[in-house]
Amino acid sequence: MFGHLLRDVRRAGRLHLISMVVGGLIGAGLALGLMGPTPDPASAVPVPKLHPSAAAGLVPPVKPDSAKPAAPETARPPAATPANVSRTVAINRGDTLMQVMVRAGTDRGDAHAAITALSDVYDPRRLMPGQEITLTFDGSGDGLRLVDVALNASAESEVVARRDTGGGFAAEAIKKELAQQAQRANGTIDDNLYMAAKRAGVPLPVLSELAQLYGFDVDFQRDIHPGDAFELFFDSFHDADGAAVKYGPIRYARLSIQGTALRLYRFETADGFVDYFNENGESVRKALMKTPINGARLSSRYGMRKHPILGYSRMHRGVDFAAPTGTPVMAAGNGVIDYVGRRGAYGKYIRIRHNSTYRTAYAHLSRYARGMKRGKRVQQGQVIGYVGSTGRSTGPHLHYEVHRGGKQVNPLTLKLPSGKKLKGTELAAFNMARANIEREMAQTPVTRQLARTE
Ligand SMILES: [Zn+2]
Repeated sequence: MFGHLLRDVRRAGRLHLISMVVGGLIGAGLALGLMGPTPDPASAVPVPKLHPSAAAGLVPPVKPDSAKPAAPETARPPAATPANVSRTVAINRGDTLMQVMVRAGTDRGDAHAAITALSDVYDPRRLMPGQEITLTFDGSGDGLRLVDVALNASAESEVVARRDTGGGFAAEAIKKELAQQAQRANGTIDDNLYMAAKRAGVPLPVLSELAQLYGFDVDFQRDIHPGDAFELFFDSFHDADGAAVKYGPIRYARLSIQGTALRLYRFETADGFVDYFNENGESVRKALMKTPINGARLSSRYGMRKHPILGYSRMHRGVDFAAPTGTPVMAAGNGVIDYVGRRGAYGKYIRIRHNSTYRTAYAHLSRYARGMKRGKRVQQGQVIGYVGSTGRSTGPHLHYEVHRGGKQVNPLTLKLPSGKKLKGTELAAFNMARANIEREMAQTPVTRQLARTE
């Protein structure tokens, strides 16, 4: 039985059984580089996704529409007139919108018509317990006659179904007006970047963005030392009550490591893609990320590993990142999925083809992100699956491999071609944008009263 197991593993050429045991033993001793606790993705405030540039010329990137703050519009449901009665009710666990509306005094037929209209712009099944809906009734006749029903569809938009002149209901989604505020944070790293950023009040989505930006150049576990420092300049968006509902993007970041400052400036290039450049106008983005997961602890490196019990050495042909089951795993680069499914000792496995030379593979997943299938195009940083312990694995972790010309190589020491270098008029435009960022930042006081990270 055990022999069969080992044979299987040998055939696969990646000895997980052993690497897992070693990883588990030495893992506890390895300091967490970037983050302590893994952020709960469900509690994170939505943040515009980073958009990979055409750097390294792999797969064409996607236009960064969502990276731009939406132009706020002002449109609100009509204000209550004296004859109108407004009621705000909360959704309880197990409630349907119909039940809540009827309970609040809505005529059943009206509720049905309003919900039907609302369904054009909102899926009522997305209602969460605790969420509030606001009903406006005309109280001038006998009883209450529904005028409109409104609810928050997201941090950024409200949906409302309003009685129209024909007596039926029509629905629309209304973008909420969010106040944009520039924020600046800095700190010295005493222990790790995660703790330092947390003390400086950096919200988790911004910290994740930061980790992703520097993930091409910095090994957060080996490269960061006490006394290193960071500075961040980013936007936050606040609703009418002043609550921060959205963060990002980062406009400037500095990471000072052992006296060397790595500066990044956000810049939209002439072709309309957003990217980050250093002060010389060189893109920091690389074709592949070294660490396609946030908040994970590197638990086993690439290379020869000695089995602690059997005493002989085997090659570990990937790197392992220990993280709780369900932690999102990202595509390390733009590419096309060329394998998704179970694969022997690897368990649930995804492989991405980035170009004719490079592929990356992700093993032991608990599940795949929705829509993952062979031939699907994915973007760098896109969530493709979730950490698990499927296949030959002794605990939840991501086993990550980079294949060059069909052979595994060490992702952590991989030298990848650097990205785009700005030239000529584009470099001039960048220098102007950089001066603007620096001037704005100089006018922004460092805040310590930012939103809590938890
Ligand atoms: Zn592994």
